[in-house]
Parts: sequence; C-alpha cells; structure tokens
Amino acid sequence: MKEKFTTAAHAIAMAAPGVGANGKFRLGAILVYKNTVVSVGMNSYKTHPLMATRTSWPFLHAEQHAIIRAGLDNCEGLDLYIARVRKNNDLAMSKPCRVCMKLIEDVSIKNVYYSTNTENFIEAPTPQN
Ligand SMILES: [Zn+2]
Repeated sequence: MKEKFTTAAHAIAMAAPGVGANGKFRLGAILVYKNTVVSVGMNSYKTHPLMATRTSWPFLHAEQHAIIRAGLDNCEGLDLYIARVRKNNDLAMSKPCRVCMKLIEDVSIKNVYYSTNTENFIEAPTPQN
C-alpha cells in the first residue's frame, strides 16, 4: 500500500458527485499498476449493461467504474484503492460490496485497499494474494 495512492483515492472521493440520501455516499477508486494510476472511478447513478448482468441494482460503484474504464481484460495484477468520505471529507468505511468483490476477483486484481472509519486504509483479502 502506498500513501500517495490512498491520498489520491481520498481526493477522487471528495470530487465524486455523491449518491444516496443527501449524497451521503461519495466514493472514489483508483487502479494502480506498479507506480502509475491507470484508471479512476467514482460512485454515480450511471448504469452499465455489464452490471445489469450481475446485480438488480446496476448503478455503478466506484470500483466498478474504475475497472470498466481500465477494461476488464486489463486489470490482472493491478492494485485497487477505494475511499469513501463523509460530508466533512473525513474518510469512512468503503469495504467493497459482494458484487464488487466478485468483479474484483473475476478480473484478477491483486491487492485491494479500502478506507475505514478510523482514517486508516486496510487490505481486503483476495484470491490473488
Ligand atoms: Zn460495490
């Protein structure tokens, strides 16, 4: 986990439009290869046909957005950083949901790091690591 990428994910989350009641959920995600950001994503009310095949709630989550933008075939071995922010821009829990975790596994992302309520990022277990 690299601090510059947790910082970048935090910044993306702050810029996200926000979904849910009062825009409560602002999430950002970045995909990293070695030392380079290859894709970014935000939570939104956009829908995507890929997600309609996976869930009855096809609005894009930040992780999904970043993965789709990178290309599903281009994610193998990448690291994913996810951040959620509260209204005051403090970090909050952003553990990937079941649908996102399945997608993360399917595209063979290597390491997943997400923000928590304690201002720290932690690593999610994936089959790749
Ligand atoms: Zn999700």
